[in-house]
Amino acid sequence: MPEILSKDIQYIKGVGPNRATLLNKVGIFNLKDLITYFPREHEDRGKIKNICDLEDGEEALISGFPTGRINEVRIRKNMLISKLTVRDETGTCQITWYNQSYLKKSIRQDIRYKFYGRVTKKYGRPEIMSPVFESEDANKNTGKIIPIYPLTYQLTQNTLRKIIEEGLKEVNGQLEETLPQYLLDKYNFYDYSTAINQIHFPSDFDSFNKAKKRLVFEELFSMQLALLSLKNKYEIKKPGIEFSKDAKMSDVIFKLPFKLTKAQLRVLEEIDKDMESSKPMNRLLQGDVGSGKTVVALIAAYKAVKSGYQATIMAPTAILASQHLETFQDILKNSGITCELLISGISKKKKEDILKRLENGEIDILIGTHAILEENVKFKKLGLVVTDEQHRFGVRQRSTVVQKGNNPDVLVMTATPIPRTLALILYGDLDISIIDELPPNRKKIETYAVTKGMEFRVNNFIAKNIEEGRQCYIVCPLVEENEEIDAKSVMEIYENYKNKIFPNYRVEYLHGKMKQKEKDSIMEEFKNGNIDILVSTTVIEVGVNVPNSNIMIIENAERFGLAQLHQLRGRVGRGEYQSYCILKYQGNSQIIKQRMKVISSTNDGFVISEKDLELRGSGEFFGTRQHGIPEFKIANLFEDIGTLKVVQEIAMEIINEDPLLEKKENIKLKRLVDDKFKDRIDI
Ligand code: ADP
Ligand code: MG
Repeated sequence: MPEILSKDIQYIKGVGPNRATLLNKVGIFNLKDLITYFPREHEDRGKIKNICDLEDGEEALISGFPTGRINEVRIRKNMLISKLTVRDETGTCQITWYNQSYLKKSIRQDIRYKFYGRVTKKYGRPEIMSPVFESEDANKNTGKIIPIYPLTYQLTQNTLRKIIEEGLKEVNGQLEETLPQYLLDKYNFYDYSTAINQIHFPSDFDSFNKAKKRLVFEELFSMQLALLSLKNKYEIKKPGIEFSKDAKMSDVIFKLPFKLTKAQLRVLEEIDKDMESSKPMNRLLQGDVGSGKTVVALIAAYKAVKSGYQATIMAPTAILASQHLETFQDILKNSGITCELLISGISKKKKEDILKRLENGEIDILIGTHAILEENVKFKKLGLVVTDEQHRFGVRQRSTVVQKGNNPDVLVMTATPIPRTLALILYGDLDISIIDELPPNRKKIETYAVTKGMEFRVNNFIAKNIEEGRQCYIVCPLVEENEEIDAKSVMEIYENYKNKIFPNYRVEYLHGKMKQKEKDSIMEEFKNGNIDILVSTTVIEVGVNVPNSNIMIIENAERFGLAQLHQLRGRVGRGEYQSYCILKYQGNSQIIKQRMKVISSTNDGFVISEKDLELRGSGEFFGTRQHGIPEFKIANLFEDIGTLKVVQEIAMEIINEDPLLEKKENIKLKRLVDDKFKDRIDI
């Protein structure tokens, strides 16, 4: 990167320390950040419209002479309205300002002005309120296509625009091309400098589109290249473990209390092949909630152990880890395989014992939480690392466990249903297996979205099911009441249900701020059927299995993302009973209603994630933290899916031909990739 790009924003003309602080708030620290702070949209203030052609509601630029002086009306002490009539060759338009007393003196009748703003028409007469305006020969704020920036804090659009203009001036002639010439030629792209200039201040909309096309391409392409080179790195790294062909997965499959689905078998075949090959496995296992990922992990772990290695399963919560342990111990009970649980809640003595037995190889499978990451957790011969619900673990954490073995195989499981097309691309550094089938005889969870008026009926419905022996979850967005947020809290609902609505049932609560021991004991009691209603936050979101519970109530459902609602809903419908999910929501917006409709009408996680992406936009869907994937500045994974596919093909071609990007024509690409890895050095 040319040195100038790292210049501190503070020293750009017109900035200074105060404005620099505001710019920092939107992530602009240096010149590079500034010129890549892309506009949200553009306003066409270039074409002058005849007054007689103005339409109600549009934003337009007109040009004309004042027909007289400004007329001022003071309607309240602090409300002054200034009105001016302007005439062009085709008609007149009223211009209105609020509290701009200086205007009366500054507007002249002998000058022609341009006005830009939103037009309203009353009785056929056009009016523009609080317009941007300047004299006809000025071309500062009108006369061209003007960029509008997303967030500006206390800076006005005008100020930020000026600062960006200055920034572009400073780098003029010094921006280096970032893509190789052969790609620029192939796609007829603008060079980098033109693209950057045109994305901010386009000469026309065609140029803007051309600039955007290039920048979107570059952003997606560099990510894709980075992921592929990462994958390559794993593959050309020292060889992994070849697990034994004699350790047959089928030995444990025969012992299962159920028949595996076709999808589970297919996925296991893929894993089996990976495990027997000398190439270290790096596989993502995607499957909707309840699709049976745990048993797949178990079978893989079985193979690892029977080949003479240890395996570890890392889950995001203690509840989940304990549940996995139960499943494992149950199925593996006569196999001579030893499983242990490592969570932060266990006693010091027990922990020391586990660590010792782990290190000398007496424990075959270690299941646990983040506690496994600690430095003193040492394996004798770690061969397989499984992380469950991976979006809860950072890439860094994953690699910490991996370091505990000698190039072990890695299986990452996730229930976040990412649209298939995207998963293939976004997880370009992992191989992907998908379980796209639920075990048979699952009843569809009936889902209803209701508003406040239905509360009474909902409560009756809960009571009816509890009388039949079932249990109910209630999920709230908050732990405690909060004056600033209009949403239900666990404590509020808990008090209300326990004391007023259902004094005869056992109501308990659960949230992340409680001590581990308390949480575990509540969950244990719920599992054993001693609690009728469990009010909680989303801590129960991931993978908890209580087949007897059949109702999931979600308070303020409008506050959750669709994918999250789907996950929550997956807590019920795990047993033989017809299950229900009731989404209580408030708000009238179209988006909220559409979202409620999507979630009530389908149980297919992939369809839901596709819709979620569409309704929320990719920015929110793929937060960096969620997926460990860089955030996009200009690309939109939903709109730009076509480009994404093109980009993937080209990246693949290039990496196949030049795996380490060593060829002369790929020097620039190497730089792009290194740039991406700067914040991912832990891989
Ligand atoms: P998830 O993919 O959400 O982690 P789990 O592994 O927790 O799902 O499986 C959900 C439930 O389905 C468990 O009780 C599990 O024993 C059961 N299960 C898994 N596979 C099958 C199958 N092929 N047939 C019947 N039940 C299954
Ligand atoms: Mg699970």
